Amino acid sequence: MSAGTGIRPAKMRAAVLRKLKTRLKIERLPIPEPGPGEILIKVVACGVCHSDLHAIDGDWNPGPVLPLIPGHEVTGHVAELGAGVTGFRRGDPIGVPWMWSACGHCEACLSGMETVCRTGQATGYSKPGGYAEYMVARADFVARLPKRTDLVAVAPILCAGVTTYRGLKRTNARPGQWVAVVGIGGLGHIAVQYAVAMGLRVAAVDIDPKKLALAKKLGAEFLVNAREENPVSAIRKGIGGVHGAVVAAVATQAFEQSIGMLRAGGTVVFLGLPGGKADELRASIAQISGRELSIRGSSVGTRLDLEEAVAFALRGEVAAKIETAPLSAANAVLNRMRRGKIVGRVVLTIP
Ligand code: NAD
Ligand code: ZN
Ligand code: ZN
Repeated sequence: MSAGTGIRPAKMRAAVLRKLKTRLKIERLPIPEPGPGEILIKVVACGVCHSDLHAIDGDWNPGPVLPLIPGHEVTGHVAELGAGVTGFRRGDPIGVPWMWSACGHCEACLSGMETVCRTGQATGYSKPGGYAEYMVARADFVARLPKRTDLVAVAPILCAGVTTYRGLKRTNARPGQWVAVVGIGGLGHIAVQYAVAMGLRVAAVDIDPKKLALAKKLGAEFLVNAREENPVSAIRKGIGGVHGAVVAAVATQAFEQSIGMLRAGGTVVFLGLPGGKADELRASIAQISGRELSIRGSSVGTRLDLEEAVAFALRGEVAAKIETAPLSAANAVLNRMRRGKIVGRVVLTIP
């Protein structure tokens, strides 16, 4: 039953992965039925996150549930309500993040870390995601959006936004202090904006001058091209090191270097997940201990983080630089991402 009309189309188009490391194929599949506590969503837009590429390439263990419909930066409208769902109406604009569900009663869930609930499900990884005309989400885990939200523009906030917002909070950096944003991709260019909005001073590190130019435009004060100079000495010499850092690059070296960028007592938060052979790093124990450094991880964000992250975007303080593409172009977009050729974020629009 589509929103408003009361007529349920029989099938939907979706981009499907049948085997790891192969191309997505556009298929016609039955529209899923929302179960108890679930919502059927008519998808409007879905951002393309590098995690989609890791899923398709099988970079992480465990791998995704196949066949897979990727996509976890989803926005759309409520199309149907499953049994027992209250507080939503057909046509309401909503967003679906990576965290498809969490159990709500384990130690992680109870201590503000529902993002790492062991029995949680992941949108576009263990559950079908938003590279499709319709998808099903848990009513308790979707983000409510105001009526006139630009659903294409806000889509990247559902992952890149909330992830970098929580990551920056976990550096514990205070207004006026320096943070390094390492990797100015889909996540990084949004991280620069949250950092500026939170009163932090930003040093941006990437290997592509186009991405550094974007960081500068978004308010980064200190830029380092890690292909041309050593980012550790550049940051130490240029600004005396950083109080915090978030690493949203997909190269092991960037994680190793980020530790050296810190001032004494500083905290680096790892966001990127290179996976496979790139998953292990070397670091100096003496440096970490002797300079009292902290290395933390951060995984997407809680529902509260998401609400806060979306609020920044709705106020216009944070806006992804987006380019749109049709669902049929998903493979081409993913190939461009593989080659590092995307500046900002590509959002698939699904009419
Ligand atoms: P992206 O491809 O858009 O951006 C990656 C950026 O890293 C690019 O700008 C690239 O030029 C830059 N880069 C590559 N090598 C570098 C180096 N040596 N030094 C500095 N920069 C370098 O990817 P994205 O969508 O922003 O995702 C980034 C990573 O974050 C991925 O691994 C993704 O899976 C992960 N991620 C993690 C979470 C989480 O919850 N922790 C959430 C979303 C994404
Ligand atoms: Zn993501
Ligand atoms: Zn839990």
